[in-house]
Amino acid sequence: MAVDLFFKSIAELAALLEAKTLSSTELTSALIARKSAVEGRVKAFNSSDDADALAQAAASDARRAAGQARGPLDGIPVGLKDVISVSGQPLTASSKMLANFVSPYDATVTVNLKRAGAVVWGRLNCDEFAMGSSTENSAFGPTANPWDLTRVPGGSSGGSAAALAAGEVIAALGSDTGGSIRQPAALCGVVGLKPTYGLVSRYGLVAFASSLDQIGPFARTVEDAALMLGAIAGHDPLDSTSFKAEIPDYRAGLKQRRPWRLGIPKEYFGAGLDPAVGAAVEKAIAFYKSQGCEIKEVSLPHTQYCLDTYYIIATAEASSNLARFDGIRYGHRAKGAKDVVDLYAQSRAEGFGAEVKRRIILGTYVLSSGYYDAYYLRAQKVRTLIRQDFLNAYREVDALLTPTSPMPAFKLGEKSDPLALYLCDIYTIGVNLAGLPALSVPCGFTPGGLPIGLQLIGQPFREADLLAMAHTYEQAHDWHTRHPQL
Ligand code: GLN
Repeated sequence: MAVDLFFKSIAELAALLEAKTLSSTELTSALIARKSAVEGRVKAFNSSDDADALAQAAASDARRAAGQARGPLDGIPVGLKDVISVSGQPLTASSKMLANFVSPYDATVTVNLKRAGAVVWGRLNCDEFAMGSSTENSAFGPTANPWDLTRVPGGSSGGSAAALAAGEVIAALGSDTGGSIRQPAALCGVVGLKPTYGLVSRYGLVAFASSLDQIGPFARTVEDAALMLGAIAGHDPLDSTSFKAEIPDYRAGLKQRRPWRLGIPKEYFGAGLDPAVGAAVEKAIAFYKSQGCEIKEVSLPHTQYCLDTYYIIATAEASSNLARFDGIRYGHRAKGAKDVVDLYAQSRAEGFGAEVKRRIILGTYVLSSGYYDAYYLRAQKVRTLIRQDFLNAYREVDALLTPTSPMPAFKLGEKSDPLALYLCDIYTIGVNLAGLPALSVPCGFTPGGLPIGLQLIGQPFREADLLAMAHTYEQAHDWHTRHPQL
């Protein structure tokens, strides 16, 4: 059993913990040992407080001994992307700007996980301020893909996906502004879920683009993703965009099986799609058909504008959100500045990396008085059209099936042109612009052994349906039982 303890699911481990054949202390120790064995090659962690994790594990064991265990997450070590606040722990956003920052409070998702008894452990690497698709923009160096250490894990939540795939954590949280949960999940062969905008509180998340950002889970199985989502979802008065929705029992909802009507957006299968990815997704579509689902081609006619719209809105919001990093209130402060303006300029010049600066400059430009109407305002209008495309499609179908990423994991250093990296997001960003839920579930491997992800895009606040659809697929395939050799 001990051999692959670290590759077990939350559901499996919860059963062992409940039967008291395993303690959280044993499990947490096993993961710390696993981390020591593989982390030198994977580099998924920015930092970790192992003593604190063991203390949380001991507290979980004590609760269980007293008959007060809190449910399936109690005692399960969960890693958090280093943009999610954990009180008393570093919060760097993988930026020099916050290299020495310690969070003074817990994010709401952190509070929720702790309340569920999870062992909140590790600050996981990502692209700086979550800007990127490969985790190469981290000020602390890139994370490697556990399936092939010469390749990227995807991004921006690459550390979360890689730590999970490598068996260093049992589940993780990431954030998704344009694909940052789903794309790394696809490239690392795990499940990743981006919830409907407003379902999960953003309080305590380092803001990138506030109208697009959502926190969501990475998990080994769809069932685990359902458990994680159930723990973190729900209204939060501390986030004014948080929605007052009834949170269903997502795990119980997995049992629903229906002849769903599934749409295949024709714009998502064009040029630029890797043939192995296309073939795996076609097989998944054929599977749903064999289960009695109605498969229908649909059109999302404004898809061609998604990338441009996203990179106007996301950069505009980023330029505004990142204005707070001025060397005075937070983070890095330059030495030797001659006056306050110089202090701002120098602190920002030294603290931010190249991609973050590129986006602040672009975002400031599209918001400037002479160009606001031509860029930002127009992008907002196009965003409405993009959302309308999805809502129109949902008159005919329950969900959409697409590839998550146009390509499997690429080589570290392969995409040096920023535009080439922006193209990684073509299948994921429309979802954020429209505020919809979507998940990526493993659907095969390339001939070279790299994981492939299937994306299911659902209707607002219908995560339960999405999870049930993905669960149906997962139960009939064994992709999730394969693990990288490390
Ligand atoms: N790759 C996209 C970007 O660079 C999305 C990032 C994200 O979702 N955080 O903006």
